[in-house]
Amino acid sequence: MLDLVIRGGTVVTAGSMGVADVGVDRETVVQVGGEMRGRREVDAEGRYVLPGGIDIHVHLSQPARPEPGQELWVDDFSSGSRAAIAGGITTIGNMTFQWSGETLRDALARDLEAARGGAAVDFVLHPVLTDPTADVLAEIPGLAEEGHTSLKIFMSRPNFDAEIDGYLDGVRRAARAGMLTLVHAEDGGLQRFLRRRLAEEGRAGIRYYRDSRPVYTEASATDRAISMARATGAPIYVVHLSSAAALEHCRAARADGLRVYVETRPLYLYLTQERFDEADGAKYTGAPPLRERADVDAMWHGLQAGDIDCVGSDHAPWTLRQKLDPGLTVATVRNGVADLETLMPMLFSEGVRKGRLSLGRFVELTSTTPARLFGLYPRKGTIAVGADADLVVWDPDRRRTVDGASMQSKAGYSVYDGWDVQGWPAYTISRGEVVLEEGRIVAGRGRGRWLRRERSPLAQPS
Ligand code: MN
Repeated sequence: MLDLVIRGGTVVTAGSMGVADVGVDRETVVQVGGEMRGRREVDAEGRYVLPGGIDIHVHLSQPARPEPGQELWVDDFSSGSRAAIAGGITTIGNMTFQWSGETLRDALARDLEAARGGAAVDFVLHPVLTDPTADVLAEIPGLAEEGHTSLKIFMSRPNFDAEIDGYLDGVRRAARAGMLTLVHAEDGGLQRFLRRRLAEEGRAGIRYYRDSRPVYTEASATDRAISMARATGAPIYVVHLSSAAALEHCRAARADGLRVYVETRPLYLYLTQERFDEADGAKYTGAPPLRERADVDAMWHGLQAGDIDCVGSDHAPWTLRQKLDPGLTVATVRNGVADLETLMPMLFSEGVRKGRLSLGRFVELTSTTPARLFGLYPRKGTIAVGADADLVVWDPDRRRTVDGASMQSKAGYSVYDGWDVQGWPAYTISRGEVVLEEGRIVAGRGRGRWLRRERSPLAQPS
């Protein structure tokens, strides 16, 4: 007698699909197909059984030490992981910024403590290098030894060009340690100049946001990131890529044999820059900005053709009051939106249901590939004997009109409010524990675990 049996569903992995029962003992899948009985059984007939989603790019901790009175991102590991569960996601990757005066290890210790107290799903932390001093760079190999096998850098940060030597050294060291470097590829110098220019021209309002971060500031930075990969021998993972021009640089680099992996973000699949002309257009701001229809089409083509590897939410929520603050300018804009709960349902509804993505590709993008790239496979990212029992019983017919006010994020709104979305999780199961039951969250706070990661097999230095 097993602890849990998922009965009669269509089990989908990146490479296979078929009706089978899935048996779970304690936290692990122990049987796929064949006869089995469970102390608890979940009826999955007419539904899909998918590997739990992996959203490798979220922000559930603050990017800098909060100042008194400062406005902050509104989700923490507790509320953020509830949003994850509601959306079928069982593993999250949080960006853990080095605050002023902190080492990378200090930052990781701070977020590990916060996540251990709050997270209801399993998590990894990506240390964000913001102060590449010799002492900090010397920490990098040890972080990989301890199971943190990724490093994030921001080309948009004010110190990036001045401290390029340190950043390059960090990327090289990360590669030697078997870590994958995540790159925010926007040219900070160009964007600072454009913000000053817009202010001089009396166009500093948020409606001009798109002009403060045009495509060429992303495309040129992406090309430079690829040159950094070439120079250092490091594999890179370009986060939240938004434009056809930037994607073309990545496609060419990959054709040339470089290990350049690409993530896009839901915003760039569903929305275009005309949204910024709306009265409440500020609610759509993220970095990079929304782009043109041709860019949206290029993102979909990239997902289909395999030029884009992952979809990460970049969940970084603010309330509508915070986003629509009339005093904001292109220089003080509050970037980011809530998207953890909607990541998988939107991609299923707009991608799979509309015939743009196969189910197998959906599973690859939302689970298998992030698991492989970030050293979690095959413990995560598939349904197989010996894997963690992270499973989603996906109801392809469940319809819900998006209403951020009734969702788990404290943002209280969604950029997709009013969209009719078909395909939602009925059950989310995390390491054998049912944490979402017919749409209702039943997870205990703090039950999530930090995942010690292997060196990414796709991230060996060259
Ligand atoms: Mn981000």
